[in-house]
Amino acid sequence: MRRPFPKDEPKRLQMSASFVPPKAAKNYGIWIDGAWVSGEGQEIRATNPANGQAVSVLHEATEADVDLACKSARAAFELGWGTSTGERRAEVLLRAAAGIRANAEELAWYEMAESGKPHKQARAEIERSAMLWDYAATQARSLTGESFAGLGEDYLAMTLRVPIGVAAIITPWNFPFLIISQKLPFALAAGCAVVVKPSEMTSATTLLLGPLLKEAGLPDGVCNIVTGSGRVTGEAMLRHPLTRMISFTGSTSVGKHAMKVGAEQLKKVSLELGGKNAHIVMDDADLDAALDAALHGAFLNAGQSCNQGARLLLQKGIAEEFAGRFIEAARSIPVGDTLRDDILMGPMINEAQYRKVLGYIETGKSEGARLALGGTYREENGGRYIDPTIFTDVSRHMRIAQEEIFGPVCAILTFETLEEAFEIANSTGYGLSAGIWTGNTSAALKAARRLEAGTVWVNTYLDGPAELPFGGVGASGIGREVGRIGCEEFMDVKTVQFRSGGYQPRWIGKAI
Ligand code: NAD
Repeated sequence: MRRPFPKDEPKRLQMSASFVPPKAAKNYGIWIDGAWVSGEGQEIRATNPANGQAVSVLHEATEADVDLACKSARAAFELGWGTSTGERRAEVLLRAAAGIRANAEELAWYEMAESGKPHKQARAEIERSAMLWDYAATQARSLTGESFAGLGEDYLAMTLRVPIGVAAIITPWNFPFLIISQKLPFALAAGCAVVVKPSEMTSATTLLLGPLLKEAGLPDGVCNIVTGSGRVTGEAMLRHPLTRMISFTGSTSVGKHAMKVGAEQLKKVSLELGGKNAHIVMDDADLDAALDAALHGAFLNAGQSCNQGARLLLQKGIAEEFAGRFIEAARSIPVGDTLRDDILMGPMINEAQYRKVLGYIETGKSEGARLALGGTYREENGGRYIDPTIFTDVSRHMRIAQEEIFGPVCAILTFETLEEAFEIANSTGYGLSAGIWTGNTSAALKAARRLEAGTVWVNTYLDGPAELPFGGVGASGIGREVGRIGCEEFMDVKTVQFRSGGYQPRWIGKAI
């Protein structure tokens, strides 16, 4: 009898037992050329959205600071990182992954404290991030081009993948460490040097990477981390002539702006932007599994997620029953104190986002949708909370079915045929991800082809192994990150042609 193959043991976090949550805000400089320097610009305070307390004190990098960071990156690139061996880069990345695991407690605490996500979720995101660094190490050692041996007897050609140079990496506040880990290790694996700017609301965990990477053996200057607003620091990065590529994750409006600025100097621009993702449940689906995924998709990170399953599309045969179960289950999602182990939803990131989401709830009501759950909100000990909110009787043209709300608001729409589901799903202009639950293989295959999105999940949602590329189409972005492609994004293709004799004069030729 065959013995069962042992199951993969997931890697466990190795905790730094010594980490004690700080009592006061931590003061940071900016990280340039492998050392902390005091930025020239104004002070910025990042606060905990759950209690309003200051977590980090940052210094805004001015245009002059960004200039220093870009020059440091270019020098490090030219001095040897760009031509270093894959083996060396892989070693650094693997040591970085180990460093992330060793400091997981501290990273998770700051991630929670600045973004307002539940602590348990933050810990899981740090572990997932470490896996991305592990995976990028495998790519550093397997970058290849193509060879062309069929061009003639004395003619051989090849393509080389070469690092693009200095990349400007700009990230948002909602998954700060996960998103920098979707970009930075892949850029480093490719041999690029970088200037990184996290969101001014959530810079701590990215800043902690500076010394961690140095300890992992990354040469000074390869990774520079600047902090500050988009208006000052981000703009300087987009415009600096030494940044050959812009890798941006954030809102569609700022992404469009980054592309316009990049176009002036013909920079390569890679954009991961907003979404209004459709999550489809067919009559023949495994409804229990779909229910869990629909709740996770709609309310993870209090809905402040680009991948949010913000539109739940239910087929008529199960719509009433499934909506009822969805509403009942969402009613019991624990909202509140981010340190509690059972909590699933924390506060809104800030007052502007809180007001924006409440505004959309009013819009939904005035558009004629039925508020089936939530719409309730409260301010408590400095945190601003919105309960899981669900609208039914939503039609596809309503603003709550078209625009990214970025909060715990889910719009339920119904449909009869698969064709109708595709029409609704593809009607927003966004195209980040989509999901479908069905027991019918032919429907699943059709959906995989017809849903206009960078990722289509079939009988799952929010999965994302490091091997698989991620990105959007339409208003959700351009380019891909993670996976092999994630590394190749940071590279150019160079064509090299050899002739070993047999060159036929073809221009001035024998006349000279
Ligand atoms: P945002 O666009 O306001 O900011 C993102 C980053 O850009 C921040 O670091 C910010 O400081 C910087 N920035 C702002 N203005 C800038 C400018 N003029 N020049 C250069 N940089 C500038 O987005 P946000 O509020 O931080 O994040 C939420 C948005 O991000 C949502 O739309 C969400 O869907 C999207 N997002 C997308 C993905 C994805 O992978 N597709 C992932 C997470 C978040």
